[in-house]
Amino acid sequence: MLNCPLCAGADLNEVFHVPQSPVSIGLLRDTCLDEIESVEIALVQCLHCGHVFNACFDVAKISEAYVSDRYVVKRNVSANMNNVEGKIFGELETFLRPCSVWLEIGSGSGALANHVAPRVARIVTIDPSPCSAPVFCPTNRIHIQDFFSKGYFPSNEFSGIVFRHLLEHIADPNGFIVSVADILETGGYVYVEVPNFTEIHSSGRFLDIFHDHFSYFSEDGLVRLFEANGFQAVRRLAFYDDQHQGIIFRKGQNQARVDCTSEKLFHGDRFWDSFETFSVLLSSMASRDNLVVWGAGAHGNNLSSHVKSILGLQDIKSFTIALDADSSKQGKYLSSLPAKVLHPQSTDLSQVKGIVIASTLHEIEIMEYIRSHAFKGEVLLTAKQIELVRI
Ligand SMILES: [Zn+2]
Repeated sequence: MLNCPLCAGADLNEVFHVPQSPVSIGLLRDTCLDEIESVEIALVQCLHCGHVFNACFDVAKISEAYVSDRYVVKRNVSANMNNVEGKIFGELETFLRPCSVWLEIGSGSGALANHVAPRVARIVTIDPSPCSAPVFCPTNRIHIQDFFSKGYFPSNEFSGIVFRHLLEHIADPNGFIVSVADILETGGYVYVEVPNFTEIHSSGRFLDIFHDHFSYFSEDGLVRLFEANGFQAVRRLAFYDDQHQGIIFRKGQNQARVDCTSEKLFHGDRFWDSFETFSVLLSSMASRDNLVVWGAGAHGNNLSSHVKSILGLQDIKSFTIALDADSSKQGKYLSSLPAKVLHPQSTDLSQVKGIVIASTLHEIEIMEYIRSHAFKGEVLLTAKQIELVRI
């Protein structure tokens, strides 16, 4: 068991526990017979500083998963996903200067960097994934295919630094922010985006707890961590009905004294109640054939592992299909179910008896699609609460 990564505290309160979870929810299987290694998750809250983290996080195993050829990188497949980058650019626009140099760490597809490039002198993107290599990008965007580390760039090099859905993966979040502060000029800006644990907890959404994420940041906890490193919050953004939070910070001269006692205590009851409801409703669906998991991303893979642990090997046979619009996932299998990933449009929903929507960011869009495509049966919802809907 690890101590708190922020204050080294050992007084930890359990929030949720998963005995066996896929080592990474980015791993899909080529065949039904492949095995994906399982690890334990112990989600705890430090009773000294309030930080929430996985005390069983295994850095070596997750690092191995990131470079595995079974690891599938998320791609933008819906209009809603592309809108997020447009909205972030709109918020950052007033801080972009023609003479400034920006950096994006973990740039993924590079969609946001390509938006920013025309408004700055130069933007550097750094990402270790081979999929991050730009097919086309503006001439003033320089891409480096590598892991970011302390000392990679000179001090005070950048006017702005962006990292989205990265900080929660890092085993030393404070050390990472210290490194970022060093290469950012005073008065420069950081844009950080992470899942919103305050919303995850209030929705009881245990599907958001997986081994890829080490830290789980509340709205106030994220601000306190940056304030302790000399930043002030300038603007808060919310995406996907508060499931993701983004904050623009400005680097000041001084570090603030941080009041740790203000963090709320996250009790485990919400997650356990929600998990119990999910288990009961899922078991009630399992007697039927032709059941579908909608989503083969993080939540879909995580859900597949919970479904297997709840139903056992015999009853998971009715889950033969997973639907996902991302072509890089199609033809592969979820980590723990015999469900092959297919494109939604290639599947006749009139033959399906039940659907579990795992894709919590897009639940509303998916429900609209289901209602307009001749589906008759039960739909299990997981985004804001666990609920069985009959259509
Ligand atoms: Zn702590």
